[in-house]
Amino acid sequence: MSDGIPAVTNWAGNVTFAAQKVTAPGSLGALRELVAASRRVRVLGSGHSFNEIADTEGVLLSLAALPAGIDVDTAARTVRVTGGVRYAQLAQEVHAHGLALHNMASLPHISVAGSVATGTHGSGRANGSLASAVREVELVTHDGAMRTLRRGEERFDGAVVSLGALGVVLALTLDLEPAYPMRQHVYTGLPLADLDFAAVTGAAYSVSLFTDWRAPRFNQVWVKQRTDREAAPDFPWAAPATEPLHPVPGMPAGNCTPQLGEEGPWHERLPHFRAQFMPSSGAELQSEYLLPREHAGAALQVLDTIRETLAPVLQICEVRTVAADAQWLSPAYRRDTVALHFTWVKDTAAVLPVVRLLEDRLAPFEARPHWGKVFTTAPDVLRARYPRIADFAALAEALDPSHTFRNPFVDRVLGA
Ligand SMILES: Cc1cc2nc3c(=O)[nH]c(=O)nc-3n(C[C@H](O)[C@H](O)[C@H](O)COP(=O)(O)OP(=O)(O)OC[C@H]3O[C@@H](n4cnc5c(N)ncnc54)[C@H](O)[C@@H]3O)c2cc1C
Repeated sequence: MSDGIPAVTNWAGNVTFAAQKVTAPGSLGALRELVAASRRVRVLGSGHSFNEIADTEGVLLSLAALPAGIDVDTAARTVRVTGGVRYAQLAQEVHAHGLALHNMASLPHISVAGSVATGTHGSGRANGSLASAVREVELVTHDGAMRTLRRGEERFDGAVVSLGALGVVLALTLDLEPAYPMRQHVYTGLPLADLDFAAVTGAAYSVSLFTDWRAPRFNQVWVKQRTDREAAPDFPWAAPATEPLHPVPGMPAGNCTPQLGEEGPWHERLPHFRAQFMPSSGAELQSEYLLPREHAGAALQVLDTIRETLAPVLQICEVRTVAADAQWLSPAYRRDTVALHFTWVKDTAAVLPVVRLLEDRLAPFEARPHWGKVFTTAPDVLRARYPRIADFAALAEALDPSHTFRNPFVDRVLGA
């Protein structure tokens, strides 16, 4: 049943939400009253997660009908952004003020609040996840009250990558820096043999490696150079592409941000996909595993041993780096990270056995699955990979004693 917005599957169409009511309050007052009066609530961002993380049997709430706010403070180099805003809109506004975010995900279509709630990241050896830019979180809690948590407060590190379990994120305040230009260079045919992972991923500000695992090589390497602080990359390991490319075989390059070294603003180079076009392939499932970066070489060798099982259900695999952070539920918590991403065919029955095999093979590396993608890791195993999970559970209990923002996904994670 829906009320306000049409119900309701996720972007990929592999999850149909079980909500009794789907609604988009038009004012803060209406939202607070609704939350206070409801037994179970979850907020839906832009719906780009591939599992039931956003689902509820109660009220599924969209912030789309609230006035969108993007307030840039140029002196403080911060921006306050309301809960329904997507990165595409945020980035344009921030850039218009001569400022920039430190990083973006592969696509700008996703909401800021939904992205940081799942630990969404881009690439770059020294670049933390998108959540690492957050300095303030404004919540509407279970009783309709407003509450702000700020960086530096004891419980702040549990409040950003929150899986949506603490309350409605009404607004976030993010760190900014001066706007910077970038150039994107794509290389093709990088062999896996003798890969110098640190050198390749250190070739520029942000580097992504793509393979379909049909051979022990990377089909493409996307190298994003910050021209304000880096010279053109020295990349002797693979050949420069001679035309623009899409990382997913068969998809049009026109959907992607400009390549061939053409200079442009940060927000038109950091994401792979342009805001006005379909990101990725559109018909897909995704999984991703984040592990300590020192295991990158060994983990890639393990993937190579199962590539004949991976390849038939795989559209593309992307390998990125993420800097360690301090957020309790961040998959990069206290670990400089390598992220192994898989864009699968859209066939759950065919993909799940491969996901299980992959998780089994990556278990020795204590891989943490992306919160917003398909995974089957047992909850107790998952909990063992998050040293601060009990602190997060205590924070969730303190802010949401009535469990209004719980759902089966969060209950499983917390072992409730
Ligand atoms: C094509 C594609 C490419 C992707 N690329 C990347 C990538 O490059 N890097 C990466 O790390 N991930 C990537 N992802 C995954 C994606 O970034 C995450 O799933 C992210 O959470 C999506 O944000 P969303 O707004 O759609 O969240 P949703 O799926 O709508 O929600 C995610 C969670 O956030 C909660 N939430 C949302 N808004 C609020 C709010 N205002 N208050 C409280 N809780 C809220 C929801 O309840 C839910 O628990 C990609 C996904 C797709 C489909």
